[in-house]
Amino acid sequence: MSLSMPTEHFEGRPTWVRVDLGRIRANVCRLRQQLSGDQKLMAVVKANGYGHGALAVASAAIEAGADWLGVALAEEGAELRQAGITVPILVLGPSHGPQFRIAAAHRLDLMVFAPEHLVAVSAAVAATGTRARLHLKLDTGMGRVGLAPEELNDSWIADLRNPAWDWVGIATHFASSDSESALATRHQLQRFLNAIEFLRLRDALPPEIHAANSAALLRYPGTHFTLVRAGLALYGLRPYRDAAGLVPALRWESRVVYVKTVPAGFAVGYGATYVTDVPMQLAAVPVGYADGYQRIWSNRSSVLIDGVRRPVVGRVSMDQITVAVPMDAVVRVGDRVTLIGEDGAEAISAEELADLSNSIAYEVVSCIGQRVPRIWIAD
Ligand SMILES: *Cc1c(COP(=O)(O)O)cnc(C)c1O
Repeated sequence: MSLSMPTEHFEGRPTWVRVDLGRIRANVCRLRQQLSGDQKLMAVVKANGYGHGALAVASAAIEAGADWLGVALAEEGAELRQAGITVPILVLGPSHGPQFRIAAAHRLDLMVFAPEHLVAVSAAVAATGTRARLHLKLDTGMGRVGLAPEELNDSWIADLRNPAWDWVGIATHFASSDSESALATRHQLQRFLNAIEFLRLRDALPPEIHAANSAALLRYPGTHFTLVRAGLALYGLRPYRDAAGLVPALRWESRVVYVKTVPAGFAVGYGATYVTDVPMQLAAVPVGYADGYQRIWSNRSSVLIDGVRRPVVGRVSMDQITVAVPMDAVVRVGDRVTLIGEDGAEAISAEELADLSNSIAYEVVSCIGQRVPRIWIAD
């Protein structure tokens, strides 16, 4: 990926996210290699594609062989439909109220797991004159949403076979497929297999059976069934430490906008939480917690200035951070700042920043603010 972002072609504040769609495609190919020919891949692009841009990522993923898209909200699916996306889109999260109508109007597949969902779907279908497409979600151990497998009975089967809609799939979601121990996942898988057997014996299996997220896709082939739902790995982020062959697609970049030299004993930022012990240079970078550069990273995180790792000192403000540069180094207004990404031999990963706030890469990238423009390239 070329590093020179011609700022003169960029209007406004020099802080942006650059997403390499070539890397998204490479990750899709890598994930596809885990699947057999008839197994399908769902690219999960909820939360604006984990902060990468839902439409751009969805289009690149489809080009590279993704068959389905997954979103969290009906509204997110509607936006993709309005942009011309025609592949099946599943709303992964629980829907409520008007979301059923939005889903029906835009031919979005829905997860259902409570009787009131079917009532809402009936009303939505009547109002929009469309056919709904439903997936039964089972809670096999995530403990969040879904029908308990013990409650799956003939009455549920009859309801799902109502000719007013298509019963497309049965699904579950793993709580711990990214953890060291396989125990919890094996237990969930067994409960899911029991439910599948229950349906098979009644000749009631829907066409799609799906359970795997990124971690399960990469490490548990027995969870692939007909369709897998990959989010994190699509973006090149690792669902567990030693996940191999993924390339991070997102770079978060800025520029030095101000430099000053200060003496020893100089206090930096709100609360004066950092005081220089020697004379040094301070570089101002225009990004802050309102952009998703989290305040808890104050005095903890690093950035790369022209490829050299430098510490963030003082509090992260709403709109800016301050970076310490030793007196003997050259730093100038306009220098390249990498907040997340590689520059030469150095790199700062979303995982590194997540560790500083006891969080996960999912949260770091999906919380990069709307105020930060996204640029998509395909090297
Ligand atoms: C977000 C989500 C996924 C994708 O999970 P990753 O760990 O990012 O691969 C899969 N299934 C469901 C139900 C989800 O909500």
